[in-house]
Amino acid sequence: MLENVSLRPYNTFGIDVNARYFKECLNLEELRELLPFLRQNAFVVSGGGSNLLFTKDFPGLFLKNNLRGIREIERSNREVIIEAGAGENWHEFVLYCVEKGFGGIENLSLIPGCVGASPMQNIGAYGVEIKDTFEYLDALEIATGELKRFNLDDCAFGYRESVFKRALKNQYIICSVAFRLSLHPTLNTSYGVIEAELAKMNVLEPTLKDVSNAVIRIRQSKLPDPQHLGNAGSFFKNPVVEAEVLANIATNYPKVPSYPASDGMVKLAAGWLIEQAGWKGKKMGAVGVHELQALVLVNFGGARGSEVFELSQRIVDDVEATFGVRLEREVNIF
Ligand SMILES: Cc1cc2nc3c(=O)[nH]c(=O)nc-3n(C[C@H](O)[C@H](O)[C@H](O)COP(=O)(O)OP(=O)(O)OC[C@H]3O[C@@H](n4cnc5c(N)ncnc54)[C@H](O)[C@@H]3O)c2cc1C
Repeated sequence: MLENVSLRPYNTFGIDVNARYFKECLNLEELRELLPFLRQNAFVVSGGGSNLLFTKDFPGLFLKNNLRGIREIERSNREVIIEAGAGENWHEFVLYCVEKGFGGIENLSLIPGCVGASPMQNIGAYGVEIKDTFEYLDALEIATGELKRFNLDDCAFGYRESVFKRALKNQYIICSVAFRLSLHPTLNTSYGVIEAELAKMNVLEPTLKDVSNAVIRIRQSKLPDPQHLGNAGSFFKNPVVEAEVLANIATNYPKVPSYPASDGMVKLAAGWLIEQAGWKGKKMGAVGVHELQALVLVNFGGARGSEVFELSQRIVDDVEATFGVRLEREVNIF
């Protein structure tokens, strides 16, 4: 175990804080050896650090989960079950599946981070979430050292939600995740932007690879690359509100975008609310709101995590004062 390690290379915001302890684990045995320590100390399990914000030095153990390996578990004429180690890079895993002709996660191309974190918030993009192809995950229970299997229903997946963020928070280390993918995929291009991008690419009969490429092109044109500009993607979740809240907003803002959600609720676009409140492209010292994507907060260089957090708080307060809607952070704050 290392001590007093800078986490700057381990979070895509590029925030320079120290972790009191640091350990990278390559296999289950190494994870098991750490369990007594984890039972006594604060810790954070991490993959790619693309959904974390450190507002101060971390007083516990930063555990980089680097369990690797991709294997085929089962195959029928129609489907294949593929299991990947938690430390596999998500985008490389998607490309691996696309190359093999396994369909279902191509719309999730280029999402940063690792496979092990993908169930944490049920990652999603362009009309697809991992819950749509999720088969099971295996996770190490910190209290008992047992490896437990979680099926779809056990995970309580929702919009950027799972049981691992709620009732079972900090109780399990996800070690591998399996997906049921199609050998004869139906492509999901219903998100208009994908169709428009395929048209720009002159693709008339798209393949899995074409859809993946279209998503990559769209994302590259819209989202800042953390290698060049520190960020953690969408900082806030899109709020899900009662229809009455939408109606109130619409009296002053008739063009407010909204999408149907479950139980008669409606989903609002957090980026739109932030933009209307005047925050898009705003800079506050070394931090700011991205000029193209109001949902993305950025570190222009040398920012402290607390500055990013303060900016996010000002946005939360302002959006609430303007629209009566309280934004919830998607990024995990430490
Ligand atoms: C440019 C950019 C674009 C993004 N676009 C999207 C998007 O389109 N859709 C989307 O859903 N997300 C998006 N994200 C957010 C992020 O990529 C995802 O949340 C991703 O799954 C995080 O993976 P990670 O390995 O980096 O997790 P980390 O940031 O390392 O960890 C995230 C959380 O998961 C926990 N965790 C990680 N690994 C494990 C494990 N093995 N066991 C238990 N807990 C674990 C951590 O403790 C933490 O709470 C984006 C981020 C960036 C920077």
